[in-house]
Amino acid sequence: MTYKLQPIYQPGGRSVVQSLRCVRCSKLTKSERLDPSCEGCGGAVLFSGQPASFPTRAELDGSPAGVWRYRAFLPPVSLGQVVSLGEGGTPLLRSQRLGKELGLRNLLIKDESRNPTGSFMDRGSTVLLSLAKGRGVRECDCVTTGNLGASLAAYCAKAGVRAVIKVPPNVDRGKLYQMLAYGAELDATPGRRDAGRHGEALSVSASNPFILEGEKTTGFELAQELGWKLPDVIVVPVGTGGHLTMIWRAIQELRAAGLAEGSCRLLGVRLGTPFIGRRGRGSGPGDGEGEPSPAELESEPLFGAEAASSVSESGGRTVEVSPREMIEATGLLARTEGIFAEPSGSSVVAAIERAIEEGFVGPTEMVVCVITGAGLKDTRSVTKLAREARKPEPAIPFGGAGPAMGRTKVELLRLLQDGPGYGYDLRAKLSADRVMSTASVYQHLTELEAAGMVRRRGTVTAKGRERVFYEITGRGTALLALAGRLEELAGRGANPPSRRRVRGAFR
Ligand SMILES: [Zn+2]
Repeated sequence: MTYKLQPIYQPGGRSVVQSLRCVRCSKLTKSERLDPSCEGCGGAVLFSGQPASFPTRAELDGSPAGVWRYRAFLPPVSLGQVVSLGEGGTPLLRSQRLGKELGLRNLLIKDESRNPTGSFMDRGSTVLLSLAKGRGVRECDCVTTGNLGASLAAYCAKAGVRAVIKVPPNVDRGKLYQMLAYGAELDATPGRRDAGRHGEALSVSASNPFILEGEKTTGFELAQELGWKLPDVIVVPVGTGGHLTMIWRAIQELRAAGLAEGSCRLLGVRLGTPFIGRRGRGSGPGDGEGEPSPAELESEPLFGAEAASSVSESGGRTVEVSPREMIEATGLLARTEGIFAEPSGSSVVAAIERAIEEGFVGPTEMVVCVITGAGLKDTRSVTKLAREARKPEPAIPFGGAGPAMGRTKVELLRLLQDGPGYGYDLRAKLSADRVMSTASVYQHLTELEAAGMVRRRGTVTAKGRERVFYEITGRGTALLALAGRLEELAGRGANPPSRRRVRGAFR
């Protein structure tokens, strides 16, 4: 549907008709639609160009917190038409315990789970729905796997606009409940919606350039909260690539406006896909336990190329984290900082740990991690976390030869049989269902040391970080041999047990 042009000019802002650049073929398109796409190839488009004039620091500091504080950088909306639920203005929290655990002195958390519907998407929904309401849109149609649907449903409710949301059968339950509660009509029929049915509706997707403009405000806000300083590193989940691209854009606009200066590297976090193996093993009987939740599966990286060039322009890099690391990071973040994020959001914590280990982030650098969404939205991951938490570590009494030993300790000893190792390295080698932080691995090593099973071999300083190497002692080796014999007695195998079988035996 094409909307009648109603030019609303805003002092210093842009007019309604704006140039849009295709992310696929770079062609410039001029459009007054609220759902524009490339005239040439139909690809997703982003606004090009910058505001004619910029606000000052004093003006921005003097206006109330939230997305609309940055309206000079956003598509023009008259203030009377703003559809707002109080989005943005999320806290930038200084980490105490997590930073210590990761070895970072200056770690900050931008907690986007504090937005009205629990995700950064609300920053975009307020912009799009304000424009839509202003133009008399009656219905929004959307195909979504999650946060966008929940957010859009709430803002449609606020604006009095009908929301029809097409959801996949495996949508996260928390997000589904949100959409239902906000009164959206849900369509779960498989296949594509026929185009004619809702011809008058505004079709919304996560690639909508107005939504993306709103997402820029994460970047403005964190710089302002730091007193107009840029952090050394910003860690953001890549997802569709949109949010990361827009945060980078915000930084460029801040520089162009003279509001912030200096350099800032982006650390993009991608989700790995080892779920194929897990599904292959056929875990839970029909409870969907072995299936990836939509939040864990990345959506099509629509802005993959934009995100990649943003990361490289910033001198940053992209890190891939596994679903296991993500679940572990969710627990770590919740336990240490009291922030319960959805796994795709807490993936940033796992990425930081990797980046520190690989020397990309130094221990004194200022790091801001962007937590994109709240944990209760993704109930399947909550279940996984709960299972990990209540799984007791079975103790193996070694017939009076030593202290009762848990499976993790036995596994650590077996790893050290292959040669000396240090915490992060050992943690990475632990079997896939052992979920713990590097600090927990060091705790086990300290206890093994006290029991005389391992000893410190030495300390190596690599990339500014101290690594303590441990090696197995004679006592530790004897204990492992005993464990092997116990296993044979238990009838777990007449042959010397392979490592995989040993793991099975100690379950
Ligand atoms: Zn194009």
